[in-house]
Amino acid sequence: MVNNQRKCLSGQEIGINPKQINYAAIEVIKTLKDNGYEAYVVGGAIRDILLGLKPKDFDLVTNATPEQIKNIFPRCLLIGRRFRLAHVYYDNNMMEVATYRSPPESSPDGPGQKGLLKEPGHTKTSNGLIIRDNLYGTIDQDAFRRDFTINALYYDPIEDVILDFTNGIGDLKQKCLRLIGEPEARYTEDPVRMIRAIRLSTKLKLDIEANTKTKIHDLKHLLQQIPRPRIFDELCKLMNNGHSKKCFEQLKINNFLSVFFPKKVIDTLDFEQPESFLLTALNNTDKRIRENKPITPAFLLAVLYWPLFKSYQQQAMPAELVAYEILNELQQYLPITKRFSLFIKEVWTLQSQLKRRKKNKIQRLLHHPRFRASYDFLLLRAETESPKLLPIANWWTEIQTYKDKEHQQLLISQLPSPKRRKAKQSNKNIN
Ligand code: ATP
Ligand code: MG
Repeated sequence: MVNNQRKCLSGQEIGINPKQINYAAIEVIKTLKDNGYEAYVVGGAIRDILLGLKPKDFDLVTNATPEQIKNIFPRCLLIGRRFRLAHVYYDNNMMEVATYRSPPESSPDGPGQKGLLKEPGHTKTSNGLIIRDNLYGTIDQDAFRRDFTINALYYDPIEDVILDFTNGIGDLKQKCLRLIGEPEARYTEDPVRMIRAIRLSTKLKLDIEANTKTKIHDLKHLLQQIPRPRIFDELCKLMNNGHSKKCFEQLKINNFLSVFFPKKVIDTLDFEQPESFLLTALNNTDKRIRENKPITPAFLLAVLYWPLFKSYQQQAMPAELVAYEILNELQQYLPITKRFSLFIKEVWTLQSQLKRRKKNKIQRLLHHPRFRASYDFLLLRAETESPKLLPIANWWTEIQTYKDKEHQQLLISQLPSPKRRKAKQSNKNIN
């Protein structure tokens, strides 16, 4: 393992200072150091700060084992099997603290049973995929087992020092996303790194280094070995990182949509029209994140499967049944929770009720737990795929502006009665 590249740089010179680090992270690092251990902030937070962005969270790393961490902090939980981690609670913050790990090649593999290669802390399948990774190592080893050079920077906020083992600072300056080590081997060990490359390069506006990129195209098939819950996690990260539109466009360009969706869904997705139903929904999601509004991946799943839902509905099947069938198909691809599938089903089936606006159902609809999401969905449809829904969507916008029932009832009473509406409709048909 190469470790003579280790560079020790002053934070101030590189453009980082302890004030940019969450106070709870600093407290946890201080406590670990006071107990004689090493401790650093590592990964995404340092990368993001150096790129001038606000970090999402602060991952910590130390040479203390999870058990030693637990002995120091009274409020600490040990979690995870694939990676054993400590969750340390400080005030209202939860800090994730990992122990240095060694890369898999640092100890000899021996063939195990049932195609597994076993050693005390690592378990690999016979084709090189790591399924357990708990062998502790030194900081140098920990750096080289990370995915990209820019994710392997260690910052000690007490000493204000950055450790760079893989020329991550150089790559950050060049805006270059480069895998550490040999790309084919690193993607084979963990194919999810390919999805991470697409997400991080898009989100951070980085160029993917040539070999890191070429191998993405050659090795996509390896993602078939990844358990679907992990693929679903990655999909959620692609949806909720604030750059979902660009990420999805990159998935399309790189032919990666098939990792997440069946062909019949992909075939219905419109990436051509800049204001398409899908691209507008992704854009709105990114906007909501910028405005600190809540989002759920279930909404985007409802969007992604909506064209398929509509095409099944044309076969004149009841909406409930169509929803049931499509959600069954979705489940075969992505292990979504019951809560998610209920959300999607309700958003879809409420569409016709919102459109119909039956007078005696309006109040109940307004108080339906999925009203807000269904209304947003209707508005999205009206603005993109069905302009004739616009007056109806606007009507729902208006009724929500009235906080008192009296005004709402007045608006409801002005709705044409179902009979007149029917007559109007048939006149329209005649015309
Ligand atoms: P963000 O949290 O902004 O999505 P991140 O880089 O912090 O990005 P995490 O999933 O929080 O992503 O991972 C923290 C760090 O763990 C990474 O920066 C990287 O060093 C390491 N890491 C994460 N996933 C992998 C992987 N599949 N292979 C190797 N190292 C990884
Ligand atoms: Mg992170």
